[in-house]
Amino acid sequence: MKKGIAVSPGVAVGTAYCMLEIFVNPDRKRLADREVTAELARFETARDAVALDLRALRMKVEHQLGPSEAAIFGVHEAMLRDSAFTGKVRNWIANDRLTVSAALHRLLQEYTRLFSETGDAYLQERVADLRDVVIRLGDRLSDVANPEQPAMHGPIIIVADELLPSHVVALDDVNVIGIVTQRGSQTSHAAIIARSRGIPAVSGVEHLLRQVKTGDTVVIDGRDGIVTVNPDPEALSAYLKLEREFVHLKDELAANRDMPAQTADGHPLQLLANVNGPLDLPAAQNMGAAGIGLYRTEYLYLTHPDIPSEDEQLATYERIIQGSPGTSITIRTLDIGGDKTVPYLGHQHQEANPFMGWRSIRLSFEHPEFFITQVRAILRAAHFAQTLGKQVRILFPMITNLEEMRRVRGMVGRAGKQLKAEGHAYLLTPIGMMLEVPAAAVSIRLLLGSVDFVSIGSNDLVQYLMAADRDNPKVSHLCQPLSPPVLFVLRDVIAACRAAGKPITLCGELAGQPRGFVVLLGMGLTSFSMSPAFIPSIKELACHLTMEKATAVLDRAMKFNTTAQIKRYLSRQVAEVAPNLSLMDQA
Ligand code: PEP
Ligand code: MG
Repeated sequence: MKKGIAVSPGVAVGTAYCMLEIFVNPDRKRLADREVTAELARFETARDAVALDLRALRMKVEHQLGPSEAAIFGVHEAMLRDSAFTGKVRNWIANDRLTVSAALHRLLQEYTRLFSETGDAYLQERVADLRDVVIRLGDRLSDVANPEQPAMHGPIIIVADELLPSHVVALDDVNVIGIVTQRGSQTSHAAIIARSRGIPAVSGVEHLLRQVKTGDTVVIDGRDGIVTVNPDPEALSAYLKLEREFVHLKDELAANRDMPAQTADGHPLQLLANVNGPLDLPAAQNMGAAGIGLYRTEYLYLTHPDIPSEDEQLATYERIIQGSPGTSITIRTLDIGGDKTVPYLGHQHQEANPFMGWRSIRLSFEHPEFFITQVRAILRAAHFAQTLGKQVRILFPMITNLEEMRRVRGMVGRAGKQLKAEGHAYLLTPIGMMLEVPAAAVSIRLLLGSVDFVSIGSNDLVQYLMAADRDNPKVSHLCQPLSPPVLFVLRDVIAACRAAGKPITLCGELAGQPRGFVVLLGMGLTSFSMSPAFIPSIKELACHLTMEKATAVLDRAMKFNTTAQIKRYLSRQVAEVAPNLSLMDQA
């Protein structure tokens, strides 16, 4: 039994599929002379298989999402055919007598060292690509070495060091019922993906890949972050029962998709979806979202080999608008930096404190030509939305002060003028700010005159307020949204926006958590944007909860002095109001 961080609730029992085996136990075996030919052949077989996989993936992604999102797989395929790369691996097998996996491991180490010494961010990004390719080869090699091992047939539980963007696309066809990663936490990529699919997940489980192998039975308890490998029969049957209940609950809750979102005493609520790209739209539709409350555009940039052009962006935004439920779509401009770097935007050197450095809107300001391109694409998309009777809003991330807000307004105006002069159809949209920097939270009253709406990014707000990295499991005990300081700030910000008559939404992970929802509702918040999978349970909770009850719960919760007391109290309240939701709750 191993403890990690619960990042997506529910219980899953399945067969492990390890995605990083070759790196965890690099093969130390030296080949005998007679084994070399066979090992070279294994490499070639795996290489051909991966090339085919990549081509299939590229076609699939191109079909579903368009050529720009698919381009990265072409880059990976070219890498696989690169003679410098293949020559080295062959040489180490033939002359140094390394096994293929050991040779791949050495290749990756060599390139990582070489490229990181150059300090060139572009090359560093290529290391991530190489790593992606090598992981694929490793996965294929384990299939080749062990033909009876089921490839990726479900239901499986992915066990990985971390989840890469290309894994996620590849997993689309596979019946993945759970995800466990060694790295990451509540708000990392794997967590966001797991939640958007409504599958249980646990992150930050150290050294797990040393203890699990593909084919093992793994149980994930996404309520308290427990992972059990090959449980004894009693534990297994207890977990299987819980898993059945979880699946049943999910089906039951999804059936309320057409029910109105409102409190028990009839206050209407807006339950919106967070999406990362067109692939998340079916979930947003199926779970009954009232619109898109947050479209994170950075995934479009992260999966593109260079800057996506205005027309490429427009095409993707139009796809999102077309496939979105409801009528409102909030598009957030590029929120890159921190842990997500894009080399073509000039992340040339490592920063000492990337989350507090050159990220998000700060980076966009320094690349006005590129930033304007995105704003233009959004304004053009807004016109397209209008033709469908929908409305686009533009949202700027990581706003710190009034000067920044004024500056973005100026840029939107400039983009509009350019489009007008060029004869493009466009529409000026409402302009909003993400409230996620404590400085902006405490001075919100100064900013409100310059924004049309506010969206609270609680994931970042909490990490900055608590000075605790949202992706670092070592400080996750501090990075707690249900802590007194966070509640004080949230209550104040929501009150300020309501007093000024500014629409306000919360789009961090807190919105989809039952306990978080209750306190936010108690603060008077009625618009929430979350991973689509959480919408049904929040709708269920809301229809058992009156405004009066939520206010009373909030008042009581805010009298406690510690996070643990608040969480315990709120858990009891949620269990009382909607007992069947306890499977969706987290520790
Ligand atoms: C947030 O910070 O809460 C948020 C919604 O944005 P992201 O998780 O993309 O930083
Ligand atoms: Mg954020």
